[in-house]
Amino acid sequence: MPAPQAERFKRGDPLEHTSKGGLALPLPTSPLAEPGEERALVFDAPVRGSAKPPKHWFDLEPAARATAVAALGLPAYRARQVATHVFGRYEYRPEEWTDLPTDARAQLAVLFPSLLTPLQELTADRGLTVKTAWALTGGAVIESVLMRYPGRTTVCISSQAGCGMACPFCATGQGGLQRSLSTAEIVAQVADAETKLATGVVAGGPGQVNNVVFMGMGEPLANYVAVMAALRQLVRPKPDGFGISARGLTVSTVGLVPGIARLAAEELPITLAVSLHAPDDELRDELIPVNQRWKVGELLDAAWDYARITKRRVSIEYALIRDINDQAVRADLLARELRRRGDWNWAHVNLIPLNPTPGSKWTASRRRDQQTFIERLERAGVPVTLRDTRGREIDGACGQLAASLA
Ligand code: SF4
Repeated sequence: MPAPQAERFKRGDPLEHTSKGGLALPLPTSPLAEPGEERALVFDAPVRGSAKPPKHWFDLEPAARATAVAALGLPAYRARQVATHVFGRYEYRPEEWTDLPTDARAQLAVLFPSLLTPLQELTADRGLTVKTAWALTGGAVIESVLMRYPGRTTVCISSQAGCGMACPFCATGQGGLQRSLSTAEIVAQVADAETKLATGVVAGGPGQVNNVVFMGMGEPLANYVAVMAALRQLVRPKPDGFGISARGLTVSTVGLVPGIARLAAEELPITLAVSLHAPDDELRDELIPVNQRWKVGELLDAAWDYARITKRRVSIEYALIRDINDQAVRADLLARELRRRGDWNWAHVNLIPLNPTPGSKWTASRRRDQQTFIERLERAGVPVTLRDTRGREIDGACGQLAASLA
């Protein structure tokens, strides 16, 4: 048996201790953000008029699409034809719609402006993982990652260019928030993935998107209205939407409690993922600055309410960071906090191994610590899995969508 972690830290590691419910929790003695690295939380995207993307078909609800088509002087049935091309065949360029008259195609082009310009595409895992960097209107850069697994395909998308939540371990957070994406810019990332799969350009043969996870750049609940409208475009049945099951959609939040409550009231059974990363306020205040606004207890209460209302199990995301949050006592506290709110497996812990970065304070846990963390949760009856780190070699694992091209 490895020595209990709290004891190991007592033998001289530069850590302080706090206590919670009788547990001695080690804390770093120096701030986790480097001097000069601390950033203020930014909830509202900066307003930059010139960066505003043009209106696109993907921004519009079905009734608004019909109105937009009529405003071009075209008969209403053209809207249905366009929808069939777009959502049924993944053809987004009017010049491809050869069953429509040339004039009509030219007129409809105004509803299909270019939103995402591919800058770079990297593949890994023998072509089964594809990361794309996109330039938005105004020049900001985002990324999305498509990952194929046996029997399913997941696309991880961005909801903002940059992020205002300032988590010190996250490359995106260090760049700050540039702007929030429009509904169409969010949907267009999924649309591109559908085209890549339908046309067989991704290894594994033709396929479709089954899962969409909002775990790329940005805090989705800080861009609530656009994200919610995008979710509705994704779940709306064909030919008015992509027809993706709501159960295949996951919205990840770092802990915007009012947004979680709002999401629960939408009556859309999507999965909520909470990026917790620490079960105690002392450490989480430093790891996740938004914790200074909404504490662990409030966040887990909101997550529990979400599970109760939607009947969907909440995913608790926990990146295991060596000697920072990976101690067995924190596994015990996490288990206790989850179990005391309900014992019907309302939450599932998803442990995320970091990339091993020798010398960095943000590096992977030791294998034995990772194993102990898992065993402590399992022993307490908490469902737990270790996340597949697909896309590691292209820096595409979620939470690491570094704005290296920005
Ligand atoms: S970890 Fe998530 S919420 Fe935190 S700064 Fe990075 S992208 Fe934003």
